[in-house]
Amino acid sequence: MTTARAFAATSATDPLSATTIQRRSVGPNDVRIDIAYSGICHSDINTVRGAWGPINYPLVPGHEIVGTVAEIGSDVTLHKVGDRVGVGCTVNSCRECANCLAGQQNYCLNGATYTYGSVDRDGSTTQGGYATEIVVVEDFVVRVPENIPFDAAAPLLCAGVTTYAPLAHWNAGPGKKVAIVGMGGLGHLAVKIAHAMGAEVTVLSQTLSKKDDGIRLGADHYYATSDESTFANLAGTFDLILNTISAPVDMWSYLSLLAFDGTMVNLGAPAEPMPVSVFALMGNRRSLTATAIGSIAETQEMLDFCAEHGIASEIELINASEVNTAYDRVLKSDVRYRFVIDAATI
Ligand code: ZN
Ligand code: ZN
Repeated sequence: MTTARAFAATSATDPLSATTIQRRSVGPNDVRIDIAYSGICHSDINTVRGAWGPINYPLVPGHEIVGTVAEIGSDVTLHKVGDRVGVGCTVNSCRECANCLAGQQNYCLNGATYTYGSVDRDGSTTQGGYATEIVVVEDFVVRVPENIPFDAAAPLLCAGVTTYAPLAHWNAGPGKKVAIVGMGGLGHLAVKIAHAMGAEVTVLSQTLSKKDDGIRLGADHYYATSDESTFANLAGTFDLILNTISAPVDMWSYLSLLAFDGTMVNLGAPAEPMPVSVFALMGNRRSLTATAIGSIAETQEMLDFCAEHGIASEIELINASEVNTAYDRVLKSDVRYRFVIDAATI
């Protein structure tokens, strides 16, 4: 085992604080990664504060991890020491169920092993990326292309693939009208990626406060949802709507924006149910669905796509000691557009 420095939550209410954790010894198929940067995802905050259910403390959050391979196991073939690599939301899965066999580890029917707060193969609780190193089985580690700035690459590992996977699955591209609801960590990357795919991109944000950014990042149109006329003017417009908001929204209003056979995909995970009228779907044979992150193959495909199109996250780089302030600011949507922790400061 090796000892890593880390920042951990010790309760649902106390600030995160510096600590040390043990990482397992490198097994035959494992890769040990010296972490360089770790993004702060809204899910980290929901998890450590117990919003999605009780957890065991202390817990080290973080599932937007980039770093350099420091050690490999005897049977590792996918990575070598010195490689630039990343780890996202999952670090293992059952490898036996239909979804795993289809390469959809994020939908593992036996429950994927998440990067933090999950039960690991050895029965311990997984600890995430707010740390100086991590040990992960090689096929859950992806390559980070050289031309993506390393710090700005970190958020791609969750926010990037969470938006890329549905955009790719529902064929965002030339001739398609795509709406991105919410201009935050997920939303700003969805704008960049959908634009690079060739779609006509519209941002639907509560206000116009981030309109200049939205247009700069690739949006063709930008509307405020606080303006009632937005919904009337855009009725029946979109082939695809990505809802990145993690609070409940009025489903009828958003579904009415879909064109014939259009699809609304929910990426946020509100704790409360959202009522849906079947009539909102019947009117234009609309579909309502949700996706959860992406597979390992989709994560690699997304990183390669971002490298090819010069896409990375807009970030605010912080020291580990600033993580609690950053959490408060994320909850106020006061970040442009993702906080990234410099692991050298942990
Ligand atoms: Zn995340
Ligand atoms: Zn499985």
